[in-house]
Amino acid sequence: METKYLNADLLIIGGGSAGCMAAIRALELNPELKIIFFEKGDIKYSGSIARGMDALNIVAIPNFTTPELYIESVSMSCEGVLDLAPSYRLAARSFELLKKLQHWGVHFPVDANGNFRTLKYHIKGEFQTAMEEPDLKVIISRKAQEQGAVALNRIMGLELLLDDGRISGAVGLNVRSGELVVCGAKAVILTAGGQARFSLPNSGYLYGTFDYPGNSGDGYVMGFQAGAKLTCMEFTKSMMLIKDANMPLLAITVTRGGRVMDMLDNIIMENECANLSRMDDAYDKGLGPLRIQLRHLKPEVIDEIEGILFSTERPVQERFFRGRGIDFRKRDIELWRTEAQICGGHGMGGLYVNERAETGVPGLYAAGDAASVPKQHLSGAFVFGEVAAEEAVAFIKSNPTVKINDGQVQAVEERRNQLFTDVDRDIDVRELEYKVRRLISDYVISPKNELKLNSWLEWSGRFREELRNHIVVRNGHDLSKLYEVAHIVQCADFSARASLERKESRWGTAHRRTDYPDRDDKKWLCHILTEKGDAPEDIRTGTEPVKGLDGKKGGA
Ligand SMILES: Cc1cc2nc3c(=O)[nH]c(=O)nc-3n(C[C@H](O)[C@H](O)[C@H](O)COP(=O)(O)OP(=O)(O)OC[C@H]3O[C@@H](n4cnc5c(N)ncnc54)[C@H](O)[C@@H]3O)c2cc1C
Repeated sequence: METKYLNADLLIIGGGSAGCMAAIRALELNPELKIIFFEKGDIKYSGSIARGMDALNIVAIPNFTTPELYIESVSMSCEGVLDLAPSYRLAARSFELLKKLQHWGVHFPVDANGNFRTLKYHIKGEFQTAMEEPDLKVIISRKAQEQGAVALNRIMGLELLLDDGRISGAVGLNVRSGELVVCGAKAVILTAGGQARFSLPNSGYLYGTFDYPGNSGDGYVMGFQAGAKLTCMEFTKSMMLIKDANMPLLAITVTRGGRVMDMLDNIIMENECANLSRMDDAYDKGLGPLRIQLRHLKPEVIDEIEGILFSTERPVQERFFRGRGIDFRKRDIELWRTEAQICGGHGMGGLYVNERAETGVPGLYAAGDAASVPKQHLSGAFVFGEVAAEEAVAFIKSNPTVKINDGQVQAVEERRNQLFTDVDRDIDVRELEYKVRRLISDYVISPKNELKLNSWLEWSGRFREELRNHIVVRNGHDLSKLYEVAHIVQCADFSARASLERKESRWGTAHRRTDYPDRDDKKWLCHILTEKGDAPEDIRTGTEPVKGLDGKKGGA
């Protein structure tokens, strides 16, 4: 197979929320820039938005809330383990972002007085701002391409290229043919999302995950291999969502008056979702299945909820509920615990970045769920897509030349050639993925302990050998899945190592160690950083103080 060579000023890996916004912002600043996307799916509907979305979860609306209140709130929900400057920047730019989206035609409902509709989703303040936009992904992906960015669909970013320690592009894989594409670039923005395919959903479906299943931690692995650090990989978060469908609805139903109830009809949440851990507590006490009740609401409120649920984020919900015979006016919605994921958007884990979206590798930026700006959601993906673009444009200007490392490309080609065969191979990649994720469920997520985490690390060695020598690869599709499973294994290694390092329990079910059941602020009010040692499989962990707004040691 022939490897294709391309050149760009800026390469964006992942054409989701953050990636599209990065391209738009970079071209606003310099319309002459040549921008290429590697996009694993099709940019029109790929990523967490998929179609549309019902809220920007963080907007600091002037004269109503403030960035200061937001960092107070997010610090509480992250239990102090975060650097404040990135979260502050997110909130400070959030209203400007809303106005920009509004200008593009994105619909934000307002009341009779012209006030935005806000809902209570955080511990403090009403930052969640309703948005009713079923075509959000189409709007932003079209805009990026109309301004001149070129999307290479079905190209999966595999490895970042380095030129004397600085980023010089990346190698991508055509997920249909298995051909490689080398894109030389003066800067790269990693926006490949989080790790959606971590533990196994209890439905047993590999792709029946809450987050977009095309996000398989590729960005974490690419960044790590290039020398970037990861933080909070021990934060393995599951949610309480619609049983068997794992689709979101809490922020839409409960904030509008819905009730989360346990099996004894105790009300666990009503009108607000500020403290989701209450659901975990009830569930862990055996008081599940939990359910959402809506039948007490006025008919027009139920109509509004249905209008949003069935049109914006996952319109397939309408068919799902009809298929199960569930009418919200008569029957409750059963909730169940989803798979655990690692994500810098809903969770806290991802590439360690500062408020300029820098990863520490010159020319490499990360934004959205690939980066750890804890609980930044869509607002963070958009704001930091823009921030990464601004920084990358400045970097490109002052670092114009770049060289491709042929040896690195050759090594990727050789590895691809070794893997692309079905001769003497005996394991279907989907079967291996099932087993890998079943064991992640057993050993890597809470309740965690040293014995389990070390058991995973033993198993992962075996899985790597099977990935190298046993997987049947008949086409580019099998091959891309093989790389994805390798990334899932690698992310589980990151997580196990970081979890072993954090010898305490924190964040409810996201990191509960039975051998260290208590929270210990004295020792662990810090980041656990994960970084590459001498070999790709050599994962090192260390700690780093959390930083206050001034960039100095924080952690109050
Ligand atoms: C179901 C759901 C509902 C949500 N609801 C809300 C909400 O109401 N409000 C809110 O504020 N936030 C919400 N969020 C969070 C928000 O959508 C995400 O935080 C945000 O969209 C993440 O953007 P991203 O660009 O980082 O990732 P994504 O938008 O997921 O984009 C990642 C892109 O990278 C591509 N990709 C992955 N790997 C590779 C690779 N190796 N090479 C090339 N491309 C690759 C993927 O195909 C995808 O297009 C929700 C998330 C989910 C999953």
